[in-house]
Amino acid sequence: MSNGYTKSTLKEMANKKLGILGGGQLGKMIGMAATKLGIKVNILDPEKDAPAFQIANKSFVSSYIDKKKIEKFARHCDAVTYEFESIPLECLRHISNFTKLYPGITPLRISQNRLLEKQFINSQKIKVADFSEVKSKKDIKNFLIRSSNVGILKTTTQGYDGKGQKKINLKNLKNINIDFKKNNYIFEKMINFKKEISVIVVRKKNGDLICYRPAENKHEGGILRETNYPALVSDKIENQAKKIAKRIANSLNLIGIIAVEMFVTLDDNIVVNEIAPRPHNSGHWTMDVCNISQFEALVRTIFDLPIKSLEYYHKCKMINILGENYNQYFYSFPKKNHRIYIYGKNKIKAKRKMGHVNVIY
Ligand code: ADP
Ligand code: MG
Repeated sequence: MSNGYTKSTLKEMANKKLGILGGGQLGKMIGMAATKLGIKVNILDPEKDAPAFQIANKSFVSSYIDKKKIEKFARHCDAVTYEFESIPLECLRHISNFTKLYPGITPLRISQNRLLEKQFINSQKIKVADFSEVKSKKDIKNFLIRSSNVGILKTTTQGYDGKGQKKINLKNLKNINIDFKKNNYIFEKMINFKKEISVIVVRKKNGDLICYRPAENKHEGGILRETNYPALVSDKIENQAKKIAKRIANSLNLIGIIAVEMFVTLDDNIVVNEIAPRPHNSGHWTMDVCNISQFEALVRTIFDLPIKSLEYYHKCKMINILGENYNQYFYSFPKKNHRIYIYGKNKIKAKRKMGHVNVIY
């Protein structure tokens, strides 16, 4: 067949099994993209009602440190990927004894630790916000005096959706409670940005890079509220942003997908905020805009299925459905150009991501 699919590869695909570490919405949507291609899906998550179990061929309810269960899971999979960063590295090492792991251990090791992440990005001659590891209020004070009147304290590990972050200046520093024994922290300069954008790039096994166009992100209180495609930026910024994302993917030797969050500063410089070696909330628009979504692109990369080029058919506003807006979307009939995705989480909570809607136009 001219499209590259032979009968034997179709049969092969039907017997392939993709393992996903993490059963949240990203795991679920990676799994749905795999099943769309006829690939079977195994999910591992500690919570028995994790959303991705809805679409799993086989569910493995297990912690990320139960070596026996992890081995059993890995032996069931032709390849394994992960949907979030806070997975113990030991789990990944154990899995790679039994099956293939994408996008690899190094991208996760770096992205799960903000200090390593910033140092790594810096080492690639890419700008990040001025930052410092801090171990006391005195360290923060020194940073504020030396670098910037206001900054953000972030836990080095485990943070997401703005969790574990505090905005600090010389005035409020005294009154803020920081448990330096419980957590490691970095402190970074507050960037006065024009906009936030993100770029998602796919790196195939042969090293080829395929880059989605940048999208524009709006956060409130550290949580992504909206992503607009396309980002309204100049060609120069767009090209620079893509170049940066590609350089990061290459230097990590990544096979799979990575999202790069960036600030566009008032003087049109790009400062990288963070990286995530997995599909990303700010790439959900690709599900209804492109020929191949970010989730399908990852699965295609893992199983060596073709990705020739990315096509874009619409503009889009992706809106996250948080707990407080859940009823509004779930109980109303979608408008003609609304594509609604509900993740199926067990509890509705304010500020919790319950789903998203892609408004295409
Ligand atoms: P998370 O892992 O929770 O996504 P981020 O570091 O991406 O953490 O921070 C969440 C959001 O907080 C960012 O998208 C941005 O809106 C804001 N933010 C974080 N760091 C900075 C910074 N140095 N300057 C300005 N805004 C920031
Ligand atoms: Mg972020």
